[in-house]
Amino acid sequence: RLAHWQRGLRAQFPIIANNPGLAYLDSAATTQKPAAVLDAVTEYLTTGNANAGRGSYPWGTATAARIEAARDRVRKALGDSGGDSSVEFVGGTSDGLRAVARDWLAGLLADGDEIIVPFGDHESNLRPWLEVRDDLAREGIRVTVRPMPVDADSGDYDHRALPSIVTDRTRFVAVTHVHHVFGVDMNVHRVRAAVGPDVPICLDAAQSVGHRPVSVADLDVDFVVFSGHKMLALPGVGAVWARNRRGPRFALRGWAGTPNTAGIVSLAAAFDWLDTAGLAEVRTWTTALSARLTNGLARFDGVRVLGCQNSLTADSPVQRREGIVTFRHARVRSDDLGFVLADEGIMVRADSHCQAGRGSDDHAVRVSAHVYNTPEEIDRVLEVVRRCEGMAS
Ligand code: PMP
Repeated sequence: RLAHWQRGLRAQFPIIANNPGLAYLDSAATTQKPAAVLDAVTEYLTTGNANAGRGSYPWGTATAARIEAARDRVRKALGDSGGDSSVEFVGGTSDGLRAVARDWLAGLLADGDEIIVPFGDHESNLRPWLEVRDDLAREGIRVTVRPMPVDADSGDYDHRALPSIVTDRTRFVAVTHVHHVFGVDMNVHRVRAAVGPDVPICLDAAQSVGHRPVSVADLDVDFVVFSGHKMLALPGVGAVWARNRRGPRFALRGWAGTPNTAGIVSLAAAFDWLDTAGLAEVRTWTTALSARLTNGLARFDGVRVLGCQNSLTADSPVQRREGIVTFRHARVRSDDLGFVLADEGIMVRADSHCQAGRGSDDHAVRVSAHVYNTPEEIDRVLEVVRRCEGMAS
């Protein structure tokens, strides 16, 4: 039943349909777009394109109304059932996290305050917080940055170690929902439980929104930041959802200029498409693809899957991966694997992964899926690993 459902959805991606021999397995970098999203953008640009709120003519006011509707679409997509929240459209996750740091956190912190941020996640979820600390230090305000503890066995945050670094000066915690290298669900519930009810939490949801159901009511976080291009919409747009309960109201400061209206239209259309497809099913599909890959990789003794301490064995239970699996082979260079995969028409990421604190010597192969990927594509990856291993030994 799920396979039938998936075939119907896959057929709706023109770039996939136009390239039958190719396997695109780099969705953690950026996703492909369904026709419905492209059509929504074309419809907007060919029937009512204007600058929002400029003048009183219909295209301008309709564009402003579309942007407001898209804010509500984001709230609905995040399970925000009302109350005081704001939605700001930004360039993407990196831009959104920077905005939270610069336009909100910097004004909140006082001398002696502390923040807890992830040092092993995407660099975009570390640099902005360190910059706030450095900027404030120049004004004589000292802020202590504490690294979020990580459990090496699971790749998840270490919620047992977390309470010991929370103090009465902890003002802010930044976390990631799904790790962009490990594919691990970073268990935000446990982070909330460990830091207590009063500390604002900012969630980097670049790899979760549009990949699985994400509910702010359930997660009890204060900011959710994500990118359109990673959730079937256009590049150059993203959003910051903010709850405005554990701190001042979040708003973009300064002059943002003309918004990316076509991008915002694409974002709303992508949420509509994903709603119809069913996000719970999308997650079931992509996690099944990850499991197929990790199970297959467990048969090679030289392979290590990143994000857990122990190498996978055929009889060890495979940890749940959210559509992203990154691995390294002891005897085959990751770059070589990447070349052979590309030669076979299989697109994966085979270099370093923007992981904070890691240099370019950190090459590994990342295979990341969305709803258009198939089990056969995963098997093609495994077949290439098998061949390369055979040549190396
Ligand atoms: N955070 C995570 C977890 C990501 O995976 C990415 C993109 N790889 C980013 C942040 C940055 O997103 P963007 O490039 O869209 O700003």
